[in-house]
Amino acid sequence: MTIKIRFLGGADVVGRMAALMDAGGRSIMVEYGMSPTKPPSYPLPAPKVDYAFLTHCHLDHSGMIPWLVSRYDNDVFTNPLTAEISEMLMYDSLKIAKAEGYPEPYNESDIERTMGNVIPMEFGDVIEVGELEVHMHSGGHIPGAMMFEFIDDGRSTLYTGDIHTINTRLVAAAKPSKCDNLIIEGTYGGRLHPDRKKTEKEFLEKVKEVIERGGKVLIPCFAVGRTQEIMMLLNGTPYDKWLDGMGRSISKVYMQYPEYLLNPNALRVARRSFNEVKRPQMRSKARKGEIIVTTGGMLDGGPVLNYIKNVKDDPLSAILITGYQAEDTNGRMLLEKGSMNIDGNIEKINCEVQRYDFSAHADHEQLIRFIHACDPENIMIMHSEHREPLFEDLSGDYNVILPELERTYEL
Ligand SMILES: [Zn+2]
Ligand SMILES: [Zn+2]
Repeated sequence: MTIKIRFLGGADVVGRMAALMDAGGRSIMVEYGMSPTKPPSYPLPAPKVDYAFLTHCHLDHSGMIPWLVSRYDNDVFTNPLTAEISEMLMYDSLKIAKAEGYPEPYNESDIERTMGNVIPMEFGDVIEVGELEVHMHSGGHIPGAMMFEFIDDGRSTLYTGDIHTINTRLVAAAKPSKCDNLIIEGTYGGRLHPDRKKTEKEFLEKVKEVIERGGKVLIPCFAVGRTQEIMMLLNGTPYDKWLDGMGRSISKVYMQYPEYLLNPNALRVARRSFNEVKRPQMRSKARKGEIIVTTGGMLDGGPVLNYIKNVKDDPLSAILITGYQAEDTNGRMLLEKGSMNIDGNIEKINCEVQRYDFSAHADHEQLIRFIHACDPENIMIMHSEHREPLFEDLSGDYNVILPELERTYEL
């Protein structure tokens, strides 16, 4: 039996993932996301599906699942942690749509219905849908991130979602698994991360330097994963540390699911070493602190803008960027032009700005190593705007497919 796969989004872009599969007599949507750009962009409308499988909570993978459920009332297979954080992100994206005047692709009750349709799975579980056997593996990208291995008539297809293949402070690395077909993300095709330990060391040295010269350190972070990774890194530093934004509530949720963390105790201890901004009134106190970790990873929204006003004209202070800055975001403008949009005005940022690579994705060499260890016959590369370098390095040894949107492939 072959497996048919057709991308309705996310084949050649990082965002709006949607992989429609026809396997074991069932129609399955693996991820149905949206790109939270301005305005947001969506995958193509999906035909009726029997099931959805969700790898992880990031909106570019999860954001349109309620649209699917509102039409087809399908079951959603994922783990409880992913479901809980997806729910928070889905509500948040509706809030943003309302505030910005974007069309809302679904409503609150569709999110509720989606959560009611979740069939909870854990790593290591094996389930049967139709004639298909599905194994759940850890993806190492963020806590709860899953890879799905679909086995149809003895032939296995591993769908990775987003993966990282090194241990970070927060999660254990994804482990390769022998398969016939490998559908793998290629975000960092052709690019390498600097050594993680070295990056961590440089980051901590910069924090120390800025505080010793009398400045403040502002660290904008994605709420999911990056905030907690940075908190754990800063644990043990003797500074007055503050935490603000959605990263705070996500950290709380993580503590309820210690089984998804590499070292739950380290996060517990790190949380205790931070003061939390529980009410907006507490921000004036936080501004007097030495380190502020806050949500608004791309500097576009969230409490980060409050703090930027505080440091932007102080040459002793620094903004330390810890994540990828997408096009058309304030963060990208800051890195490229040294200015930002603050309350509708483009303003020059006069404090120090540095960028550190704490990526949660495998880089080119890590992907190649992972792929060799899976030793598949066919490879399909998705979730990437840099697929050619991977194609070049792999096509001598494997049948490598760079899927096009809307085209059906049989594996
Ligand atoms: Zn992701
Ligand atoms: Zn992604």
